[in-house]
Amino acid sequence: MSTFLAAFSFAIGACVGSFLNVCIARWPADESVVRPRSKCPRCGSGIAWYDNIPLLSWLLLRAKCRGCGEPISAIYPAVELLVALLWVASFATFGAGLTALRVAIFATILLGVAATDLKHYLIPDGFTISGLVLALLGAFVGAFLGDRGPFAGPVDAIFGACVGAGAITIIGWLGEVVMKREAMGFGDSTLMAMAGASLGSARALLTIFVGAALAAIIFLLVVAPVGYIRARAKGTAFEAPLVPFGVFLAPAALLTLIWGFPLINWYLDRILN
Ligand SMILES: [Zn+2]
Repeated sequence: MSTFLAAFSFAIGACVGSFLNVCIARWPADESVVRPRSKCPRCGSGIAWYDNIPLLSWLLLRAKCRGCGEPISAIYPAVELLVALLWVASFATFGAGLTALRVAIFATILLGVAATDLKHYLIPDGFTISGLVLALLGAFVGAFLGDRGPFAGPVDAIFGACVGAGAITIIGWLGEVVMKREAMGFGDSTLMAMAGASLGSARALLTIFVGAALAAIIFLLVVAPVGYIRARAKGTAFEAPLVPFGVFLAPAALLTLIWGFPLINWYLDRILN
């Protein structure tokens, strides 16, 4: 990877990450991501362009609002840095082209989905519906240009969207019967439609398995022990907290895009031999 491509993809990624911060903050509240301009939540003073440069402004302002000195959360530059690194990794892996752009956008949207689902227990349509449109568009343009990368072709993209959304909806119904409460939201269905349109039908189903496996691992290693220790400290009974499934489906979709087919082939090899 050339230094220029690394610097360029990092800069674009940081700017996209900055916009992602706006989407994560505003879409769950049903606010526009275009207007009004960003302002400080405490003093209400508008944020000038030179105080809104990804990563740099946070450092130059030493994490404080210029108007009132209110601390600015480190989450914002962390998201910008993470998205910038995702874009560099994508262009380093797939080279300058349509595939790298599609992987970078897919990863960015999935990060937004995981963040809002973790924070607000909801997955905004802004991520999933625009992601679905981009995935279908990308499948056709990719096929036309002969640059498909790890993504599904046009026909499997359409099937994948239906299979992904259908499977997670059925699992949600079953979960509701067993647990007697809502197990899956509509956001999970649109998320899996987007993921299925990117991955195709086989890897859409694999995404749900990988997501469930990730959820089980994190629950056993992190959520349950921490919850148990906290309950012991407070002298209350341990109650498992609700962890939204989109938080696990999102990284599972990205993992499956990169390593899904090798994993399926390895598994089939083990069965057939
Ligand atoms: Zn302020």
